[in-house]
Amino acid sequence: MTDTSIAKSSLSEVYGAFIDNEFRSASRTTFPARAAASGEYLADIARCDANDIDDAVASAKAAFPAWKAATPEDRAACLNKLADVIERETSRLMVIDTMDIGRGLWETEIDYSLAVQQYRYFAAAALTHEGFGRPIADGYLLAKREPYGVCGQIIPWNVPAIMAALKIAPAVAAGNTVVLKPDENASLSTLELGKLIADIFPPGVINIVPGMGEEVGASLTAHPDVAKLAFTGSSEVGRIVSHAGSNRLIPVSLELGGKSPNIIFPDIGTSDIDAIVDNVTFGSMYCNGQSCLAGTRLFLHDAIYDEFMQRLLASMQRIRVIDPMSQGPLLGCLVSEKQGHRVQSYIDIGRKEASLVTGGNRIEVSGCAAGWFFEPTVFETSNDTRIAQEEIFGPVLSVIRWNDYEKMIHDANNVRYGLASGIYTNNLKSALDTADRLQAGNVWINNYFNLAAGSPFGGFKESGIGSEFCHETLNMYTHLKAITVQTQVNPAWYAT
Ligand code: NAD
Repeated sequence: MTDTSIAKSSLSEVYGAFIDNEFRSASRTTFPARAAASGEYLADIARCDANDIDDAVASAKAAFPAWKAATPEDRAACLNKLADVIERETSRLMVIDTMDIGRGLWETEIDYSLAVQQYRYFAAAALTHEGFGRPIADGYLLAKREPYGVCGQIIPWNVPAIMAALKIAPAVAAGNTVVLKPDENASLSTLELGKLIADIFPPGVINIVPGMGEEVGASLTAHPDVAKLAFTGSSEVGRIVSHAGSNRLIPVSLELGGKSPNIIFPDIGTSDIDAIVDNVTFGSMYCNGQSCLAGTRLFLHDAIYDEFMQRLLASMQRIRVIDPMSQGPLLGCLVSEKQGHRVQSYIDIGRKEASLVTGGNRIEVSGCAAGWFFEPTVFETSNDTRIAQEEIFGPVLSVIRWNDYEKMIHDANNVRYGLASGIYTNNLKSALDTADRLQAGNVWINNYFNLAAGSPFGGFKESGIGSEFCHETLNMYTHLKAITVQTQVNPAWYAT
């Protein structure tokens, strides 16, 4: 059997909510999961509602005391087992994601290696998540970290394996239990994860409830027994989730959109140009541009503009836009028709307000009738256009010419988002000074997407609140409790 036939035959016909380590029967309405490129029907998924959220939260709440009491070693062992089994199942799971969302197999394979890395990282981090203590008069001060309880977590569709790992791993490592809502466009691999979780974690520690954002997502964020919310998605929905959290005065962490600058200085050596062009192409086109981190605004210095652009266009035109089930680096299709119309509308806007230098067309791909495939698209523009300011979430790069350093820094920061950024220079001082001045949670120097395990990942401004990927994330999933211990009872104030 091929990986594709193994993946297809492993899918359930219908997926209900995964609660208490079991899949509920989907007795109510379902919606179909279809392959983004071919349109092939893959499975039915329960359109869960507030009742399912009640059940899932009750299960997570019941599991919490024992999971909180479990030793960090026990929690770490579960996370490592999950990492092992995901690694073994990668060839199947990556095919499921490629079918579901239309991204190439080479990309979904990378997703799973990053996801595995996250489970392992937080397994290790759980063992070193220490509080602190010191002697005080007649005793000791102890400060310890305690999990919140039930965490309500909501993720988007673009990189389902990584998103699930970024939410589940730190939450359960810190001793919380979880109710996770996958995106309606990409629920299959997260629900398949449930099948693996059932053999490893105690019932109720991780629950997965699929369905629509405004229905099941809203029920989860409003639930009175949810003690912490974590959301990844658009800034618009992030605001709604933040309101839900503030209504109940519970902590909310948010990973939201981006419109990241990638800055090329004039001192780059000519021998480095091809490698930098490749980084810029990868940074803007990876994930078909459907990445919050994508480097979608290229600030290119005047002195090297023409030569760099010539090589950049050649690099963009070399990308194969083909069936995502093919091997090797490629651009597949966008996740959905809705996303296709969104990208098309921005390309239409760009044609009016900027100068199109390559791409701009939707492509037909044989055997992929349902897919929204686009050529890698590059516009020359200024920083104040809509295509340079708004998150397109598609294979569209805006190139902005610069020669005045202060204006370039002003423009790079002059956007509502502040997630990532890239700098290419051979001058260490330029690199570090610029890194200090960029309003972004990630600055990558002479590289893009440098996601080393433990490297904090989070946004400034409207890109979010909090940091994932790193040890600090465990603090986001715990409150700090102070305990003072006296070795004897001394009189207080009134006795004197
Ligand atoms: P989205 O905000 O529309 O949806 C994200 C999730 O929120 C989905 O699961 C959806 O069902 C749910 N949702 C929708 N309405 C809801 C509501 N009222 N209450 C509760 N949940 C609700 O985002 P999208 O279009 O799926 O994803 C694209 C966006 O996600 C982009 O803006 C992108 O930048 C962002 N994103 C950010 C990161 C990051 O880590 N910063 C990563 C990936 C994607």
